[in-house]
Amino acid sequence: MADTSLMEKLVSLCKRRGFVFQSSEIYGGLGSVWDYGPLGVELKKNVKDRWWEAMVHARDDIEGLDAAILMHPRVWEASGHVAGFTDPLVDCRTCKARFRADKLGDAQCPQKPSKHPGEHSTCDLTEPRLFNLMFKTFMGPVEEQAAVVYLRPETAQGIYVNYQNVLNASRQKVPFGIAQIGKAFRNEITPGNFIFRTREFEQMEMQFFVKPGTDGEWFERWREWRLAWHHAIGLNPARLRWHQHGPGELAHYAKAAYDIEFEFPFGWNEIEGIHNRSDYDLGRHQEYSGKKLEYFDQAGNERYIPYIIETSAGADRVTLTLLVNAYREEEVEGETRVVLGFHPRVAPIKAAVLPLVKKDGMPELADRMYHDLKRRFPCFYDDSGAIGRRYRRMDEAGTPFCLTVDGQTLADGTLTVRERDSMTQERVHQDRVGAWIEERLR
Ligand code: ATP
Repeated sequence: MADTSLMEKLVSLCKRRGFVFQSSEIYGGLGSVWDYGPLGVELKKNVKDRWWEAMVHARDDIEGLDAAILMHPRVWEASGHVAGFTDPLVDCRTCKARFRADKLGDAQCPQKPSKHPGEHSTCDLTEPRLFNLMFKTFMGPVEEQAAVVYLRPETAQGIYVNYQNVLNASRQKVPFGIAQIGKAFRNEITPGNFIFRTREFEQMEMQFFVKPGTDGEWFERWREWRLAWHHAIGLNPARLRWHQHGPGELAHYAKAAYDIEFEFPFGWNEIEGIHNRSDYDLGRHQEYSGKKLEYFDQAGNERYIPYIIETSAGADRVTLTLLVNAYREEEVEGETRVVLGFHPRVAPIKAAVLPLVKKDGMPELADRMYHDLKRRFPCFYDDSGAIGRRYRRMDEAGTPFCLTVDGQTLADGTLTVRERDSMTQERVHQDRVGAWIEERLR
């Protein structure tokens, strides 16, 4: 049974603490579009930074790219999105609600008692109609068919059409990859579950170009590396699993596909896809553009269209996963403590500096320390209220370390460092505390 109360608590915490707000809220909000507040933008940025570090900076065989959102409309004909990027849509003539025909089992009929669409005797569903998920807009002042452009529904195509530019400019050789983080837009029929499925979102995609015949090995390697990355950002391995696409789910061009799924309060769902896309993408762009996209392999003195192994994750979906994974409530001394137990690598604020009392020079010393540390990692200064309350506020924001300036600090220069999860305290000298925290961010 879906734990809806947990999602409700999380959504309300996200608003209260400034992680995520509804878009255009003062106008009543815009359906399934969300804005990230001060803590949310840091959390999501950490997701993207950890991905970029692992995929681009830590490797010699992957280059970065930032392609534009708007692309030549022929790109979307070549990719198959104009003809085939559709979901089957059904309407209910009785309640006027609209559902994805292939996800009726996940949807709720608005009539009571709670049932799936089609299960009440009064439900009257239409035949499914195909609905294209791409947002259209017009380029230039004339709204005619020739000026139609699309908001990209995935970032991958920007990589395929730049494959040769990157290859020439970087002097990489196959096997190599191109990584990109950027916005994508899908006019989803049934968006929902907070930032899980939205109409505007960010993707972190990497396309790895390999010699045909070596694709199977590379596919397995990428599966292993990508799962390890999700562990490294602190996701609980017991809540992650593989879902292999069966023959009915597999795209017609794909040789193999696996999703990494996470156990959300609303069930197991995809957070990342790893796909063996064969030579479909470059083959289609070669055909539609008329430009040769073959690779000349000097070592083997042969030409081929590389196969592509794709890893495709959603930055917003991984951010939600981190929030769900981190949220917990605990009884401490008769009170409920709400904690976001983020791994320090992804926590929005790494440390809070707190003067124990507002006198004896403690605020001045704490303020100096705060400004010093703020140059090294995101910090927060708080001198209002009882120290216990300030700790609780930081627990709820997911801050892993609180540094308290107290009487002993004035005497010997050491601070109380309080760790969020264990709530244990130890003393670390003020000169070493920056490095002490940095060690724990690695
Ligand atoms: P789903 O079956 O959930 O619609 P998909 O199979 O269409 O997803 P892909 O096209 O493989 O998803 O996209 C890759 C990743 O992009 C997904 O794993 C997900 O993390 C993210 N993503 C896709 N659609 C959305 C969306 N509407 N909102 C947020 N993230 C999304």
